[in-house]
Amino acid sequence: LNGEQYSATDAFKVESSNVTYTDATIESKFTYRTTAIYTTDGKYVAVPKETVYDFKTERTVGKVGLMMVGWGGNNGSTVTAGILANRHNLAWDTREGQRAANYYGSLVMASTIKLGADVKTGDDVNIPLRDVVPMVGPNDLVLGGWDISGMDIAAAMDRAQVLEPTLKSLVRKEMAAMKPMASVYYPDFIAANQGDRADNVIPGDKACMEHVEHIRKDIRDFKSVHDLDKVIVLWTANTERFADITSGVNDTAVNLMSSISAGHSEIAPSTIFAVACILENAPFINGSPQNTFVPGCIELAEKHGAFIGGDDFKSGQTKMKSALVDFLINAGIKLTSIASYNHLGNNDGKNLSSQKQFRSKEISKSNVVDDMVAANNVLYKKGEHPDHTVVIKYMPAVGDNKRALDEYYAEIFMGGHQTISIFNVCEDSLLASPLIIDLVIVAELMTRIQWRKHGEEEWKSFHSVLSVLSYMLKAPLTPTGTPVINSLAKQRNALVNILRACVGLEPENDMTLEHKLF
Ligand code: NAD
Repeated sequence: LNGEQYSATDAFKVESSNVTYTDATIESKFTYRTTAIYTTDGKYVAVPKETVYDFKTERTVGKVGLMMVGWGGNNGSTVTAGILANRHNLAWDTREGQRAANYYGSLVMASTIKLGADVKTGDDVNIPLRDVVPMVGPNDLVLGGWDISGMDIAAAMDRAQVLEPTLKSLVRKEMAAMKPMASVYYPDFIAANQGDRADNVIPGDKACMEHVEHIRKDIRDFKSVHDLDKVIVLWTANTERFADITSGVNDTAVNLMSSISAGHSEIAPSTIFAVACILENAPFINGSPQNTFVPGCIELAEKHGAFIGGDDFKSGQTKMKSALVDFLINAGIKLTSIASYNHLGNNDGKNLSSQKQFRSKEISKSNVVDDMVAANNVLYKKGEHPDHTVVIKYMPAVGDNKRALDEYYAEIFMGGHQTISIFNVCEDSLLASPLIIDLVIVAELMTRIQWRKHGEEEWKSFHSVLSVLSYMLKAPLTPTGTPVINSLAKQRNALVNILRACVGLEPENDMTLEHKLF
């Protein structure tokens, strides 16, 4: 143990022969224990399995930039104001009294994990998740981005109608100086009703290599102007329609690149951004539901070892769903239908009032219970599924205050029924903004973690497709051929336990035998 090298800025140190601290890294040896299942004569045989990994986490975070596509939108302007308010430690008056900046709703910034139990009292010792390994502080992010609407970000914040006037007045001056860069706009991909805000566009209305190069240059320039070590790019622009997946067009990396060069009409702006980021080795996260990551784009990321993550922020209704359905089915209650209605009056709702864009959202919202249903072969026959309907309506009057009405209908003991109705009202962008922060913090962290099988020489990065971001995403993208986990509790455990492994701590198993066996 190199305890003397433990940095005072870290919240704790691990004293174990499996963990080594140096000035530059934290290295851990971690035994990953799983259960392998064999089938013999139609019966399962379960065999405990161990794989020993080394993890190495760079301790120096460096200077990090966040570039948002759709910076002038409700999310983009809200997250910007939120970060500035936190950075300057602002407080402001509201009709309910004074409010101060916080990061509520951020898993990383505002939730805790159990580090262990106090030797004297036996009580749990909890620490903020952000303290498990060195992570970028959101207050330190350098902000920038693109929008097809040229409005400065202060004016965009007014347009969004999300924040209190007293808060807005405190950040207005700084935000008025923030102007989004011109963006790629192919009108066919977003609703026609968005056309009137598209006054800040790079010439050309279909894919071309010049657009990819333009965005690459924007990223490089941003990096050099602000003297950044790395940049994370996040799509929080309008929901696009799905792109058709066609062999020869976007099915492979090579085909995708030649389709871009040829100006093919099925290449979405979000895919142009993804390609540019992959080529610049800037992690790219898609916060909207469309299929930005066509197979050719995923292959390109894998080839370049670049990080991608998506799709669609999981903020309100779906987050509740992935917790509630997990609870119901794991309680042995047979969920038979879910009806999900939404109405919202912000620009996202306006865009989603167009059928093709709504369809992207409908797909993203629809598959979120599949794995939980499939896992319970007592309640559901193979292929059996609860009915599930998703409706979204545009209601300008409610603005960003989205309403989500959900009915869960379930079969209980001896043919009885349970109906759960939920009416969820909140500012959509105030739920999404902390998710943006979490996505950026975790994606940045993943650029500093390497692994190898114990005994091997070469260190590697995690797979290009960052499924570790799943907690924050409605339709989590996973490496091809690997399962999608939607259960919120499992997604959180995966993230927390991977972070624990990086500092050589066992996964939290909640057994608390010390309180049961004495
Ligand atoms: P918004 O409409 O307020 O903002 C989107 C911004 O993107 C607009 O300013 C628009 O001008 C800009 N834009 C459109 N096409 C662009 C392009 N090609 N390049 C650059 N900018 C472009 O929407 P929002 O409420 O901020 O939401 C953003 C996205 O996040 C939407 O797709 C939405 O579905 C998704 N989302 C939001 C939430 C939430 O809770 N707020 C949850 C899940 C997903």
